[in-house]
Amino acid sequence: MSIISKDIQKAIQLLTDEQLVAIPTETVYGLAGNIFSEKAIKSIFSTKKRPFFNPLIVHVPSVSSLENIVTHIPKKAKLLADAFWPGSMTMVLKKSSKIPDLITAGKDTVAVRVPNHKVTLELLKQLPFPLAAPSANPFGSISPTKPTHVESYFKDDIKMVLDGGSCTNGIESTIIGFENDEPIIYRLGALALEDIEAVVGKISIKNKKEVSPDAPGMLARHYAPSTKTFLVDDVALEVTKHQGKKIGVLVFNQSLNNDSLTEIILSEEKSMQKAASKLYDSLHELDHLNLDVIIAERFPDNGLGKSINDRLQRATFSL
Ligand code: AMP
Ligand code: MG
Repeated sequence: MSIISKDIQKAIQLLTDEQLVAIPTETVYGLAGNIFSEKAIKSIFSTKKRPFFNPLIVHVPSVSSLENIVTHIPKKAKLLADAFWPGSMTMVLKKSSKIPDLITAGKDTVAVRVPNHKVTLELLKQLPFPLAAPSANPFGSISPTKPTHVESYFKDDIKMVLDGGSCTNGIESTIIGFENDEPIIYRLGALALEDIEAVVGKISIKNKKEVSPDAPGMLARHYAPSTKTFLVDDVALEVTKHQGKKIGVLVFNQSLNNDSLTEIILSEEKSMQKAASKLYDSLHELDHLNLDVIIAERFPDNGLGKSINDRLQRATFSL
């Protein structure tokens, strides 16, 4: 029997019983549990095979819930919360002593977000506790943007995927940390850098490959298909280097018009937003076709294109 269901009351029951439920958000599906249940939080890590050093994002129903989670809200954090919540922005702030260390990997900061999805906002409003929810995929693999993606990953491990349809934004939230009360981008994501800068001014990015990353989304290889994937500027040229192989290509808006390839065009109308929303589903699809290689086209380096390139980069063996 399918574990996909629209029954919010059932989700509430399971979460209250310290079990996990996959929840829809506008970014990707999350694997959610009660932040105050050690049992639930431990099973998030074990189900995902996520290392304990990777902290989780706490999901709350409104900006006002922030006061119970953190001890200090910098001025610019308040501006950002008012501008973008509910929405695809996560902020990392000094944690209150109520937040268990297991959630934050022992750090004195906690990542928090108000997701912009009707079903999950309703769920969060009805629950007496916030939800910890990393993406609902095994650690390192492609994030889920549809209920069926989660089902295929975890049908034997969890009891329910709360069905909220396809994720409209389709890539993870943008994570913003604070150093001396000034915002810094820890992870590029579904909220474009330019939109954030319009509210708080020029902001620096600390999103590079690091040995001990502040955020696991920073790991060099993450969000990755099992098929060998390349990210290039000139897809047609790269195709010529893989003669005789079964090739899948992922392009922004223009077809290569080559019948010997499996091709997915992310947005014929050249919408970055549309392309982002289809990105992971397209990678899931290509990854299931037993291809020898996937060749993805690099996006223009602005707006959501920057975030899409970041994810594609981590999905690839870079050239
Ligand atoms: P996921 O939900 O799987 O995309 O992962 C949650 C993201 O939030 C990861 O990249 C975490 O490292 C990041 N995160 C959570 N808490 C913190 C924190 N206290 N400091 C920095 N990054 C965090
Ligand atoms: Mg993740």
